Amino acid sequence: MKYNHILIRYAELSLKGKNRKEFERKLLDTVRKKLNEFKEVRVNRTFGRMFVELNGENEREVSEKLKEIFGIHSFSPALKVDLEQELIDDAALWAVKDAIPDEDGTFKVTVKRPNKDYPGRSQQLNYHIGSHILRNTQKMTVDVHHPDVEVRVEIRQEAAYILCKTIKGAGGLPVGTAGKVLLMLSGGIDSPVAGYLALKRGVKLEAIHFHSPPFTNDRARQKVEDLARVLTKYGGELKLHIVPFTEAQKEIHQQVPDNYEMTIMRRFMLRISEAVAKKNNALAIVNGESLGQVASQTLDSMHTINEVTNLPVIRPLVTMDKLEVIEIAHRIGTYDLSILPYEDCCTIFLPAQSKTKPNKEKANHYETKIDIDRYVQEAVEGIETVIISGKSSLDEEFHELF
Ligand code: ATP
Ligand code: MG
Repeated sequence: MKYNHILIRYAELSLKGKNRKEFERKLLDTVRKKLNEFKEVRVNRTFGRMFVELNGENEREVSEKLKEIFGIHSFSPALKVDLEQELIDDAALWAVKDAIPDEDGTFKVTVKRPNKDYPGRSQQLNYHIGSHILRNTQKMTVDVHHPDVEVRVEIRQEAAYILCKTIKGAGGLPVGTAGKVLLMLSGGIDSPVAGYLALKRGVKLEAIHFHSPPFTNDRARQKVEDLARVLTKYGGELKLHIVPFTEAQKEIHQQVPDNYEMTIMRRFMLRISEAVAKKNNALAIVNGESLGQVASQTLDSMHTINEVTNLPVIRPLVTMDKLEVIEIAHRIGTYDLSILPYEDCCTIFLPAQSKTKPNKEKANHYETKIDIDRYVQEAVEGIETVIISGKSSLDEEFHELF
């Protein structure tokens, strides 16, 4: 015997009416896309639940994919059997043994019987199935309060479902239910995590990366593409806009005193990001800043940098400690890529000391020496947009070979 279905739970209590429908539709769509590679799998939705029909595909492999989908609260592998008591008994027994292979533990049976045509009351069925398990296992005992496994049996109109494992899902909302944002993606640890957390609240992501060849090399760019690819696990295909930033950076370096260079450079990044966001209908910018880590991330600094845009700038990490961010980076699979040592454009021209309390007046004053529109426009026009599909392409393998 093996599990033939997976039951998906997704109730967000706060969702009602139209939102809920949209939520379910998007989630169904995402689950289907995500499980596309399992040719036999079918995904269906009935009466506020979602079922994956495995049709012989590997339950564990499918489960691993489900864990990456936002909007899923939890899920359980299930055995669907015809409405015959013997089949139900054996399925329950198998599920207990699967959960506790050495048959040394406690269990409890909970029967729900929405199908009132099925003979027997729930209590009687609990007892009957429990006895069957006791008779056919070595050391299993019943504990109705704190069992190691709870065998849940649901007797519905069309069939009975038996389940006894609950696996935690990624939570959040299905991607695509909350509009689009533009993620400022560097090669660091923070911004991929910020992107992940934004995806968790249901937004669709595009990403922008500032690249300064020849000061930053192809490997730095490749690293960012690889990070973006990890994000596709959670958010599906995404567009990555690579901005040529060398000319703007050189100009800033020439015109602006050392201690304001970082601030002005950030302001340019934000202006360019805003232009790209507007062009692509993104409603907000997301970045990986948190408070107090470095000179560019003080409140004064945010205040001065933020002045150049009207778009909301969302900072999912703003209240987190670095260690919390690193923990998430490990969990989502971006950490090892992020720590690869390739130069980021921010670091190349920058002095060791930046102003921790830059002010707007000075920033504006220094910028009068720069033809802002020209540098922003040239950067935007030079953008190369790459579609990151999530599948490692043949191209990439060639890349490795040569
Ligand atoms: P990260 O680990 O994300 O690089 P950080 O702690 O190194 O963050 P900074 O380098 O100060 O912090 O960058 C702050 C944020 O600005 C980043 O999280 C990212 O969102 C954005 N950013 C920085 N450099 C770039 C870049 N080259 N391209 C796109 N966005 C960038
Ligand atoms: Mg960085």
